[in-house]
Amino acid sequence: MVVKAAVRAPLRNTWKSNPKVEQRSAPRERLFLILLGLGEFILPFVFVMTPWLRAFDYRLPHWAGWLGAGLMVASLAVFAKTHADLNKFWSPVLELIEDHKLITTGIYSRVRHPMYASQWLFVIAQALLLHNWVAGLAGLVIFVPFYFIRVRAEEQMLLDRFGPKYEAYLQSTGAIFPKI
Ligand code: SAH
Repeated sequence: MVVKAAVRAPLRNTWKSNPKVEQRSAPRERLFLILLGLGEFILPFVFVMTPWLRAFDYRLPHWAGWLGAGLMVASLAVFAKTHADLNKFWSPVLELIEDHKLITTGIYSRVRHPMYASQWLFVIAQALLLHNWVAGLAGLVIFVPFYFIRVRAEEQMLLDRFGPKYEAYLQSTGAIFPKI
């Protein structure tokens, strides 16, 4: 979470000063972001720092922790790359800014949602690292519905804005896995 916050900090400032021209489903989006914070940060933090959630522990073999650590490193690497490539067009909620450009280069030339791909890796890693039904699975339980609802709304927004250009982009890329 510290690495993620550090990667995002400069873009958060840019985002605040960006002139926005459109925002979609902001209240629902904000609620999801709060729940995600609970699932991927607060509950894991409580699990690590206190004994309160111990009643919900489960056991996974030793290798699961190493696999989880590997996936976490991959998640953070993809997260950093997406922020470098998307740059000022990043926003925490669905929105478009003045002169919004469709980014189709870098990691975005292969997949449309690499930031959400990094989030998938994160929540899977969380379940492998924290052997607890509450703290381990909270990220997955909250992120999975968020992902499907968000991607649908985001692609509709970008289709409305960029039309045929986004349709072509849809054809040539995968959502979170590169098209073969
Ligand atoms: N779904 C992307 C981006 C997440 S950030 C990913 O997973 O990497 C969300 C914001 O990014 C949205 O508000 C949208 O305006 C913007 N966005 C998404 N894809 C974009 C693209 N290819 N080019 C420019 N902006 C994009």
